[in-house]
Amino acid sequence: MILTQCAVCATELGLTLGKKCGRCSTRYCGPECQVQHWKEGGHDKLCKPIKKAGGAEQYCANKNYAEAVAVAVEKCADDTKGQTCFICTQALHWKTKEGLVRMCACRGTAGFAHVSCLAEQAKILFAEAEENNLGVEVKNKRWDRWQTCSLCEQDYYGVVRCALGWACWKTYVGRPETDQVRGMAMTELGNGLSEANHHEDATSVYEAELAMKRRLGASEDHMLGVQNNVANMYAHLGQREKAASLMRDVYSGRLRLSGEESSNTLIAACNYASSLVNLQRFEETRSLLRKTMPVARRVLGELHEVTIKMLWIHADTLYQDPAATLDDLREAVITLENETRTARRVFGGANPLVVGFEKTLRNARNVLRARETQ
Ligand SMILES: [Zn+2]
Ligand SMILES: [Zn+2]
Ligand SMILES: [Zn+2]
Ligand SMILES: [Zn+2]
Repeated sequence: MILTQCAVCATELGLTLGKKCGRCSTRYCGPECQVQHWKEGGHDKLCKPIKKAGGAEQYCANKNYAEAVAVAVEKCADDTKGQTCFICTQALHWKTKEGLVRMCACRGTAGFAHVSCLAEQAKILFAEAEENNLGVEVKNKRWDRWQTCSLCEQDYYGVVRCALGWACWKTYVGRPETDQVRGMAMTELGNGLSEANHHEDATSVYEAELAMKRRLGASEDHMLGVQNNVANMYAHLGQREKAASLMRDVYSGRLRLSGEESSNTLIAACNYASSLVNLQRFEETRSLLRKTMPVARRVLGELHEVTIKMLWIHADTLYQDPAATLDDLREAVITLENETRTARRVFGGANPLVVGFEKTLRNARNVLRARETQ
């Protein structure tokens, strides 16, 4: 986690409040906690190593990164047996001795890598773009290396994405708050934590980012991006009403700011639809999708994650709705069968999106079977 609390009593401090240790920048709610930490909390011994690592936030990022890599390697162990890294061509990393990972859409012997090698590559590519002042588009494309596989061009998922999130945050945490890249790294960390189902941790990262952006007077575009992430976390944490109301705000903000064809607007529409289905507001969901699904198909294409998700949500509204007719149910099952096949082809069978599809398809088939035998 990033450090938003007193190191002793966990009082919430955001990113700026509290009293800092003059040497290592560990933060406390006040002098009492600081004294206690030094005398009884072991800070007398840790202060020096923390300072040496670059301060409390960097120390914490390094530690969490190492743990996240270990988790990712362990989780991928069966898949990576006997393979080598496509970047350094070794099985074990020469310096860190870490093992390999792979959680993208690569198949066969392609795509195995060390998290360290992926991170090093992303760092170098982005630094080069910054140094040479290459345009925003090139910079964004290179930034994608923190989350997207360069071989299959699909996003990393699960614990590998989480390790990359920590890698990214650890790389840029030392930059000043006003540097946009620091905020981007925070987003990567939040996304990674969320991918590994650490939704509470992800929420506090996004919320800290939101507070920071608000304080710095960030553009509405940037604010909407973080609000969208916060709303997603509320949905994951079961706070459905809160999620839907924030999603609605983000969607209407995007619509006003960027128009109906912007990919950000379509992502927001998809998230809003998903939050409405969670509240079983089926009619509203369908009416939103009737407007936005054709645009997603046309602008993003049939194989885009957002288009596929929208079709999935639409099928949800059909089979979950108690008012659904037998024809609705059949349509839902057919849609889900097609979309599951497409998703498996695009993302690979191990992708969580595909696993989710398969589960939904099973549910829909059960509902249909039950109704047919009635
Ligand atoms: Zn305290
Ligand atoms: Zn200290
Ligand atoms: Zn390697
Ligand atoms: Zn790949």
